[in-house]
Amino acid sequence: MELSARSEVLFVIASQLIGLEERYGAHNYHPLDVVIERASGAWVYDVAGRQYLDFLAAYSAVNQGHCHPAIYKAMCEQAQKVTLTSRAFRNDQLPLLYKELNELTSFEMALPMNSGAEAVETALKAARKWGEIVKGIPAGQTEIVVAENNFHGRTISIVGFSSDAQYREGFGPFPAGFSRVPFGDAQALRERITPHTCAFLVEPIQGEAGIVVPPEGYLREVAAICRENNVLLLCDEIQSGLGRTGKLFAYMHDGIRPDVVIIGKALSGGFYPISAVLASKEILGVFSPGDHGSTFGGNPLACAVARAALRVIVEESLSERSADLGEYALNRLQQMDSPNVASVRGRGLWIAIELNSSARPFCEALKELGVLCKETHDTVIRLAPPLMISREDLDWGLDRIESVLGLANGAATETLVSAHA
Ligand SMILES: *Cc1c(COP(=O)(O)O)cnc(C)c1O
Repeated sequence: MELSARSEVLFVIASQLIGLEERYGAHNYHPLDVVIERASGAWVYDVAGRQYLDFLAAYSAVNQGHCHPAIYKAMCEQAQKVTLTSRAFRNDQLPLLYKELNELTSFEMALPMNSGAEAVETALKAARKWGEIVKGIPAGQTEIVVAENNFHGRTISIVGFSSDAQYREGFGPFPAGFSRVPFGDAQALRERITPHTCAFLVEPIQGEAGIVVPPEGYLREVAAICRENNVLLLCDEIQSGLGRTGKLFAYMHDGIRPDVVIIGKALSGGFYPISAVLASKEILGVFSPGDHGSTFGGNPLACAVARAALRVIVEESLSERSADLGEYALNRLQQMDSPNVASVRGRGLWIAIELNSSARPFCEALKELGVLCKETHDTVIRLAPPLMISREDLDWGLDRIESVLGLANGAATETLVSAHA
């Protein structure tokens, strides 16, 4: 087939697939119109065979890179043996995942779930029950404090304490017992705590809010306030954890140790939904058989995948790579002189470019140039490439980001795109 005729056919296929999705699927997302068919490492390929550098990495679920061969091997080998036993019976993978999580993080216990939101729910349940049976708060009266602009998932209880109106509207009534304080303001937390407070839930760096790094010393002060008041500190490291910020967990930058850590996303390297809650025996020990559970949580396929995904993070020094490449990228972007950019911030390979206008047209233009990233909260471009990305690929992407952001307006991208084509 002639090249142009072939690309015409592939374009029609992409349009048809987009049409099916729009017609038969719920419209709870607004994706960029790139139809991905396969991926490898930091690169993804659309149905027309065009390649793109992935600067989102599925919101940090693919820190290890797409289709990592070691995780793929573990998944295939386990899938040929046994995939799901339910927790009615024991399996030979779960104990090994527990042991390896303990060795890696030094938390005494873990509780495996599937999605991030489920792990957050699990942590909230553990904190409430701990509040009642260990702290001695009267039954049904525990209080949990959360931060403004939080993102912890989409269940009814979690959106119930969101400060984003769209997340809440139409979904009430919501569970009671939650209240919000400004993120970054330790004094506000101190004032909010009552004898009924059992926990403070916080992202060490707020991801969906736009990679918001709190003021220096905030987490240390929060940890001290929680300790003084016998309140559990719950860190949601679902997006910030497992290497993303240049350390295994973002809280480590502050030299603190939370009581509960919630992980997900990169725990599977993108192969499978896997999440977990890590904590002490005193906290996770509050659960008795029947208190909590999940049909798929802790299944042998998930555990084999998570074990391989964790090994990759350690063996390929992904936290260290993130620290080095992140510092380089942040310096480069902060030196960029662009009328469109208000500020650049981040930690590790997790960088927010705050624009003076809507970020969407710039993300669309970047897609045309072969770089995939996604706006968050309208004016922020979030950069979160897989942590295994090479320095050369990173530069390739940053070159394009700088050229798109250097343009006076979105319309001029037409010129740029044709110049690159
Ligand atoms: C993605 C995310 C969640 C929710 O995870 P899901 O797997 O989408 O349920 C919770 N907290 C944070 C910080 C996240 O980034």
